[in-house]
Amino acid sequence: MLNSFEFLKKKKYIKYVTDSGIFRNSPAEALPQTAVAKAVRAHMESGGKTKKAAVIGFDGARADSLVPVVKSGFDPYIDSAKYSALQKLKDEGAVFLSYTGGEKGEKQETSTPQGWATVLTGKWAKETGIYGEETLTKAETFLTEYAKKGKKTVFNSIWPVHFTKTYRREIENAEKNNLPLRFVQVPDSDDALTEHMIKSVTGDDCDISFCIFELPDHTGHETPPGFYNGNPQYVKALYCCDKNAYRIIEAIESRPTYNDEDWLIIITADHGGHLKTHGSQLITDKMIFIAANKKELF
Ligand SMILES: [Zn+2]
Repeated sequence: MLNSFEFLKKKKYIKYVTDSGIFRNSPAEALPQTAVAKAVRAHMESGGKTKKAAVIGFDGARADSLVPVVKSGFDPYIDSAKYSALQKLKDEGAVFLSYTGGEKGEKQETSTPQGWATVLTGKWAKETGIYGEETLTKAETFLTEYAKKGKKTVFNSIWPVHFTKTYRREIENAEKNNLPLRFVQVPDSDDALTEHMIKSVTGDDCDISFCIFELPDHTGHETPPGFYNGNPQYVKALYCCDKNAYRIIEAIESRPTYNDEDWLIIITADHGGHLKTHGSQLITDKMIFIAANKKELF
């Protein structure tokens, strides 16, 4: 395996993700992060069975972090792939390379508030106004948008900034206007988050459910050599998120009404990382992934 400094080199990184064979598109064809909201909207507006959507976030999961989790061109050693949410979505749909941090020439930091705001609104920072810890007022998340149309939507996450800063206005607006949108701040553990998300997707309040797992970001910042597959803690974090996401998907499929419903399930990230940080326009920070059970929406 290349060392973490070697991986910062763009050409090597591109060759690695391409050779993995995991991704449906090439790095040159990577989808903008705005594609997630676009797909959710297209799905919710399509005809047929009752539409439902679940978007599961892995904070700080680089594109190449999928390699130890999903069957790839490199390593046949993952035999637990049948309990992998990412493998399941790949088998049923596709895993795409995606990019955060805005279009070329734009200055959107590859960090958490910016990334999730783009995922949830389908807009880059120049339109969301989220360059740091601002409050979202210029654009609307698809959670608020569909709550206004009477759909039940839920936001489950741990990090306080989502509640005190970024989505403060949406939270106030939902309360003031009695919208069927709930913002649930979960105590600090991805296991607790899994239980909350399972409650969301199995309950009646589940037209669109969203959650953010934080472990990849935490381990990337806190354990050397950081955001990198050569860091066993980082690999373990991805593995834990993937297994938790698998439980969420199992819960969705166990719904008594599942056969009468049409579910879009997406797993994606807010940003990647390099060494023990992120935020830059380096390819390791910028390149993420979108895994979805419906490839035709992308
Ligand atoms: Zn971070």
